[in-house]
Amino acid sequence: MDFKLDKAHQLQQELFRSFAETEIRPIAKEMDENEALDLDMLKKAAKYGLFGIPYSKEYGGAGSDTLAYTLCMEEISKVDASTGVTISVHTSLCCSCINNFGTEEQKQTYLRPLVDGSKFGCFGLTETNAGSDVQGAQTTAVKDGDDWIINGSKIFTTNSGFADTCILFALTDRTVPASKGLTAFIVDLKNTPGITVSDNIERMGIRAASNCIVTYENVRVTPDRVLGPLGKGFKIAMTALDTGRIGIAAQALGIAQGALNEAIKYGKERKQFGKPINAFQNTQFKMAELQTKIDAARLMVWRAACAEDNHEPYGPLAAMAKLMASDVANQVTRECVQFMGGYGYCREYPVERMMRDAKITEIYEGTSEVMKMVISGSMKLK
Ligand SMILES: Cc1cc2nc3c(=O)[nH]c(=O)nc-3n(C[C@H](O)[C@H](O)[C@H](O)COP(=O)(O)OP(=O)(O)OC[C@H]3O[C@@H](n4cnc5c(N)ncnc54)[C@H](O)[C@@H]3O)c2cc1C
Repeated sequence: MDFKLDKAHQLQQELFRSFAETEIRPIAKEMDENEALDLDMLKKAAKYGLFGIPYSKEYGGAGSDTLAYTLCMEEISKVDASTGVTISVHTSLCCSCINNFGTEEQKQTYLRPLVDGSKFGCFGLTETNAGSDVQGAQTTAVKDGDDWIINGSKIFTTNSGFADTCILFALTDRTVPASKGLTAFIVDLKNTPGITVSDNIERMGIRAASNCIVTYENVRVTPDRVLGPLGKGFKIAMTALDTGRIGIAAQALGIAQGALNEAIKYGKERKQFGKPINAFQNTQFKMAELQTKIDAARLMVWRAACAEDNHEPYGPLAAMAKLMASDVANQVTRECVQFMGGYGYCREYPVERMMRDAKITEIYEGTSEVMKMVISGSMKLK
């Protein structure tokens, strides 16, 4: 057991940190206010290889691992959680489905441009009546000759405002529950007639990220776009969400560490009662508690990532990491706003944005309640 990053991972961490500091920090506030990501920055991130970290070089990826991907998620989200979720949905939800379940031809055709950063991906599972309970899915795909005709609507599809490729889940058999009737499709969002993408849904946090309703009206897809066996869409979605939760846990970790760093910097400068507010023991003890919680969450994120990298069962470990890290992110950001007083509450400093951004980590890719369902379902006497 080794709790230290090896040299290769340390170097990757430095690279991610440097990209976040130089390319994202200067525009993070503006992107939040404009409710839009800077697409040039995303293209640069793609050129840096940030959109294909855990995927094989054979398909144009960086040939690294899930642990490196969590380092990227933490470093990017320390500065901007909207960019964090953009990378996460692309990497864990979209690319992993094709990587794990695609044929060799699908990997060459659809995965390669995603992991080499020339295209962006998204994942359409949630519908208005199917959130925590996917069984409520109503989007259908009906056979027409060899093709499939898709009808329905997906809500909250992150990245859909600019993404090229969507992993879409539709019922190919309505006579059985969605867990057996859903099939995954690889859909070209930009060039397929019948697809409408709404404006960005207005949100409390991660406001720069793209998050829209995607409507499918008589959308024709060819059979080469069916991903995995018919009726195995639920399994494909759940497998993607297991790995996705590691990325979201790392995003939460980054938000927490980013906010604490900001508060510590502020507390060195801010003087009240004749001394810097960092000099009060109350403050020092609070900071110590928060850093301890963040470090505990980081170990859980790394444990889940290493389990995935070692091909060990990791679903419940990912759920624990997300449950813990998202709770820590909410506690830490709230405390950091409090610590900075009125200035923490103002837009001039990033901690209010971080507090708004932290909330979603307890909701998407499975709420904290759903995480407890996953964890309790896997518990054994130890
Ligand atoms: C900003 C954002 C980005 C998103 N990105 C994507 C995306 O890219 N792709 C995608 O497919 N989806 C995406 N989602 C959807 C997200 O995963 C869902 O919102 C989430 O899973 C919860 O579903 P819901 O919103 O329908 O809430 P509901 O399922 O209606 O839950 C409401 C409340 O009830 C609780 N609850 C539900 N069932 C139970 C139960 N059995 N026991 C106890 N409590 C329960 C929940 O925990 C929650 O507190 C995104 C959502 C948001 C807000």
